[in-house]
Amino acid sequence: MQPSLFSQTPEDLAVLLEGLGEPSYRATQILEWLWQKRSASIEEMSNLPARLRDHLKENFTLRSLTPARSQGSLDSTRKFLFRLHDGRYVECVLIPASPALYGERSDRRTLCVSSQVGCAFGCKFCASGLDGFTRDLTADEIAGQVLLAEELSGEKVNNIVFMGMGEPLANLSQLLKALELITAPWGLGIGARRLTVSTSGLVPQIRKLADHPQQIRLAISLHGASDEVRDRIMPINRKWPVSELFKALRYWTERKKQTITLEYILIDDVNADLAQATLLAQRAKSVQAKVNLIPYNTVEGLPWKRPDEPRCRAFRDALVKSGIPATLRLEKGHDIDAACGQLRLKEERAERKDVT
Ligand code: SAH
Ligand code: SF4
Repeated sequence: MQPSLFSQTPEDLAVLLEGLGEPSYRATQILEWLWQKRSASIEEMSNLPARLRDHLKENFTLRSLTPARSQGSLDSTRKFLFRLHDGRYVECVLIPASPALYGERSDRRTLCVSSQVGCAFGCKFCASGLDGFTRDLTADEIAGQVLLAEELSGEKVNNIVFMGMGEPLANLSQLLKALELITAPWGLGIGARRLTVSTSGLVPQIRKLADHPQQIRLAISLHGASDEVRDRIMPINRKWPVSELFKALRYWTERKKQTITLEYILIDDVNADLAQATLLAQRAKSVQAKVNLIPYNTVEGLPWKRPDEPRCRAFRDALVKSGIPATLRLEKGHDIDAACGQLRLKEERAERKDVT
């Protein structure tokens, strides 16, 4: 499989062009065709000499994803399913500005992107991990989700969360390259502060990312404030327990001087009791984090349930009373299976049924 032209940085192109005896300004022209004009074919790149176009056509592909399905939801969240060159699927979700969360004048359009096909971490509540891990996405497949979502929706994305399928920090080299494609002025030009990487708690990689110069944001899928609760639902906690995780988070805040978000899904009879709220408040305070509470989204085939609304509110109120900034997320896209991994799982299972 040839690489996509979209994976090429100015430095990569400089080496290529020099080898071909082409002037260096061709790199700027190629990048403009790709990222600004959003070319559909290499043939279209009319200011490049024919011999260069031929070379590019022979050695590179252009699009690494094609649209497979899109679903709209009642609150105008849109979910896209994209097909990769090897027949696998990834999904992403476009979430329009939410006046409730960001104020009436917000123009925020957030895209939730995937970083892997499947996930190896096997959290017990999560659809992405159900069928295990298939492969990492390449940087151009990650950034390509943004290009394609913009093309299909006709809207410019200005905020990205790495909260789709997969564990972004388990695919760190391609993630870092994707961050370059997404933030570069010649690429998508989205500011690093508008990118949030979410992780289930890969401690060494959190430290590495803390040393990375870009001011990207970090969200932690915590879902339990004690080892007892996290061990039960997130196998990764046996490798890096809560105390290790919070040491890494302190390192992050020292390096980046920015607020971390702790994501906390509320699951009935697992983590939604007030004793956990008290512990969570202590943990959040220790790294000056804010907390996003999300009532659990039921997954077919899994036993977990969301607590009733009064319990969710009581949990939030307990945090707020302890001085922790906490939001109870009014869910977007619940009616279209917006939680990670669910749409893709349905598609792949349906295909398997077709085959057998
Ligand atoms: N692997 C990374 C990135 C994926 S983020 C991580 O875990 O952080 C996807 C988020 O959705 C995670 O916080 C995950 O815990 C959460 N999630 C998974 N299944 C869910 C469900 N059924 N309902 C609500 N949130 C869910
Ligand atoms: Fe993987 Fe994150 Fe789902 Fe856990 S929550 S299985 S790490 S995608």
